[in-house]
Amino acid sequence: MSKESLHDVYVDTLKDLYSAERQIIAALPKLAEAAESDELRAGFEKHLDETHLQVQRLEQIIEGLGKSPRGKKCKGMEGLIEEGKHILEEMTTPSAGRDAALIAAAQRVEHYEIATYGSARTFADQLGEKAAAKLLQQTLEEEAAANEKLTSIAENGVNREAAAGDEGRVRGEGGHIGRMRGEGAREGMRVHRTGTRSAARGNRQPPRSR
Ligand code: FE
Ligand code: ZN
Ligand code: FE
Repeated sequence: MSKESLHDVYVDTLKDLYSAERQIIAALPKLAEAAESDELRAGFEKHLDETHLQVQRLEQIIEGLGKSPRGKKCKGMEGLIEEGKHILEEMTTPSAGRDAALIAAAQRVEHYEIATYGSARTFADQLGEKAAAKLLQQTLEEEAAANEKLTSIAENGVNREAAAGDEGRVRGEGGHIGRMRGEGAREGMRVHRTGTRSAARGNRQPPRSR
């Protein structure tokens, strides 16, 4: 790949992230409002503040390249946010179970961001864009921390409460759903570790599957 075309891919990736982050800024207040758990609501609100900074970093990087951050729509993020909306359409009453579903949806968003920032940071490294690589790494670490925070909120309360709610219903079935969500959260944590390692190597190597 010539240096020029890698540069094009880099700019495209940055614009994609910019669109993704802006979609997240629009969606996070709705998630915060919908959260039943105070800790989860606070988590979404904190990440909204971080996301504003992440958008500023992207503007700084893209404008530094003499380009406009606008003009691209991240379809991947559009789909992930759409899935989050479906949860609120299908589960109209706040509950621990709905919180567990919101956490799972939010973790998919964080993983998408972790993957894309990992690539962008690697492109910046390879193109010798040191300042940009540092900013992208900073955001990557915030996304990883947000993901871990969601895992701990799920493990420390929300999923357990959701599973307890299931026990009053048919034994086995409901509890199984609760357990599956718990496993999803732990899985998220483990994949996140892999994700971070692969982020450190950028897109040279896909995360190892077990
Ligand atoms: Fe973000
Ligand atoms: Zn995208
Ligand atoms: Fe994020």
